[in-house]
Amino acid sequence: MHELSIAMELVSQIVEAAEANRLPRVDEIELEAGILRLVVPEIMQTAFQEAARETIAAGAALILTEKKAKVRCNQCALVFEPHVDDFTCPKCRIADAKVLEGDQIILKSVSCNLSEGNGK
Ligand SMILES: [Zn+2]
Repeated sequence: MHELSIAMELVSQIVEAAEANRLPRVDEIELEAGILRLVVPEIMQTAFQEAARETIAAGAALILTEKKAKVRCNQCALVFEPHVDDFTCPKCRIADAKVLEGDQIILKSVSCNLSEGNGK
C-alpha cells in the first residue's frame, strides 16, 4: 500500500513543522496531492490516521486536495493536461513529455486550533 509510506513521510514532516512552530498539538493538516501520484483519498485518510498514531498529529483532520497534472511536450513544447496513463501530445501524437506539475505531494499547512485562542 503506497499510501502508507506517503503517510509516514508526511507525519514526519508534520511533526517537524509542529516542533518548529511550537504547536502543542496538530488539529488540521492541508495536503495537496498531484494526480499523477495516484493517491486514493479514502486510503490516504486511513493510512494517515495509522501513521499518526501516538504522534502529535494523532486524530488530526486531513484535508486532501488534488492537483491536476501539467506536462510539456519535448517535441513541440506544447503544455497540456495529460491523462494519468497517457502522455501523448495532442498536437504531435508522440508520448514524450516532461512533467511540470501533478507529480508531487505537498504539505500545505499544519495548524492547531488552540493557537488561535479558541481553547480558553
Ligand atoms: Zn507535441
